[in-house]
Amino acid sequence: MSRADVSEKAAVVGFDPIERRWVTGETASLSFAAAPALDGELLVDADAREAVTTDLGNITHHRPAAVLRPRSAEDIAAMIRFCRAHDVSVSTRGAAHTTLGQGLTDGLLIENRTLDRIHSIGADVAEVDAGILWKDLINAAYERSPRLSPPAITGYTSLTVGGTLSVGGLGGLVGALNTGLHVDHVRELEVVTGTGAIERCSPEHKPDLFEAVLGGLGQCGVITKAVIDLVPATERARTYVLEYTDNGEFFRDVRTLIERPAIDHVYAELYSPESAPTHRLYATVLYDPDAPPNDEVATEGLTTEPIIDDTTYLDYAYKIDTLVDGMRETVGWDHLVKPWYDVWLSGSVVEEYVGEVQAQLSARDIGPFGISLLYPQRRSHMTRPLPPLPEANGSDWVFVLDINTVAETPGIDPAFVEEMLDRNDRMFAHARDQYGAVLYPIGSLRFTAKDWRTHYGDKWTAFRAAKSRYDPSGILTPGLHIFQDE
Ligand SMILES: Cc1cc2nc3c(=O)[nH]c(=O)nc-3n(C[C@H](O)[C@H](O)[C@H](O)COP(=O)(O)OP(=O)(O)OC[C@H]3O[C@@H](n4cnc5c(N)ncnc54)[C@H](O)[C@@H]3O)c2cc1C
Repeated sequence: MSRADVSEKAAVVGFDPIERRWVTGETASLSFAAAPALDGELLVDADAREAVTTDLGNITHHRPAAVLRPRSAEDIAAMIRFCRAHDVSVSTRGAAHTTLGQGLTDGLLIENRTLDRIHSIGADVAEVDAGILWKDLINAAYERSPRLSPPAITGYTSLTVGGTLSVGGLGGLVGALNTGLHVDHVRELEVVTGTGAIERCSPEHKPDLFEAVLGGLGQCGVITKAVIDLVPATERARTYVLEYTDNGEFFRDVRTLIERPAIDHVYAELYSPESAPTHRLYATVLYDPDAPPNDEVATEGLTTEPIIDDTTYLDYAYKIDTLVDGMRETVGWDHLVKPWYDVWLSGSVVEEYVGEVQAQLSARDIGPFGISLLYPQRRSHMTRPLPPLPEANGSDWVFVLDINTVAETPGIDPAFVEEMLDRNDRMFAHARDQYGAVLYPIGSLRFTAKDWRTHYGDKWTAFRAAKSRYDPSGILTPGLHIFQDE
């Protein structure tokens, strides 16, 4: 970016583990005095910029030169054209729940949460602004008669539509077995490209843009609106909670439950080997009171007895929100360092990999406010080219393993960050080389441009072509370093 104009001094705001240096607020800032007129706001004051220097990970810090709170796609288009003309990078921020600066920039930061309208909800579809939170759509759709829901619901729902569509959006609590990802349920998008053009795209119209933006990590455009499938929602959710101390028994039951038609959703928590249990499995049936689940059919042939947890649909959908909101208040969760490790694994290797990793997990690897999770997905319901997945190797199942490490106390601790990022690098190299694992890019892996090319594999050529077409100046979303050496 242009470094010509103003520069200012400020206190240390963090430690950059990629460049291995302390970061101060001493960031040159372009004069935005000549910026175009907008419906929304363009902020250059220190407070507005300081508030968006990091993400949920609290590891990487970049203070933007300006913050845009758009009120329209036209605002974003006008500012992208302005930034392109001045060679300023641009990133979009949803709820900023990634953990290694994926959405940060020294240039213009678009706070997309101000695009917050639900435009319409029909019998099986909604048109929404990309800055709304999923819980806003879940609430609005559920109030309808008959009740509706997005087909896939992430474990945590205070994430933006644009943010999860940019990473993939895995149904952490609803939609693991039979629906695919968030990106599989989008009919149409409105996107502002890196040239400042406002485009509508869908599988039929400009499919190259549609496919490059869904799961595309903000590289080819800013999603401003999405037309999303809705499905009938039930009134209740019954969860069978099963505990294990043996990896083999756990996976035997996982395999049984994910193939069982009576079960709608499965996920699991993993703990360090000194814990008891070491694995906790959650299998859920979504139902209406006039057709309650048959517990015997749901749990037949499992290796252990379940505990039954029966709740309303919305209490079930918001159970992780309730947990996170609690930690926000009690331990300042937002400010704790979170060096997360998140990978996709084929169903053909997941048992062996989880067994190996879990045997080495210490309590410190997870932390008192962290969690390790395992989510299955049926590949045949995943229809989009992105996000990249591991080779199937004969399995229709693919799993995300998360080790969501959280530091015990707030504050900058470079030694802890280095230790955990080194752990992530080491674990990922081994998982990729030995097990064919593929990154789920919400976490804290220091990928180089070369790593990204390997990551995209046979999808690289199309993704690279879309980047050249829709962001020819390479100004969008620099925080991932995907095209850094080009
Ligand atoms: C407690 C918790 C639980 C989670 N559970 C799940 C889960 O069940 N399933 C799952 O898949 N993920 C889960 N995640 C991860 C989550 O999907 C990602 O962190 C996602 O990025 C969050 O959305 P966001 O709005 O915070 O996006 P951000 O972090 O703000 O953005 C993500 C990336 O997309 C870009 N971006 C954001 N908005 C746009 C846009 N409109 N157009 C173009 N690019 C954009 C950003 O620049 C950034 O690179 C969870 C995260 C947390 C903290």
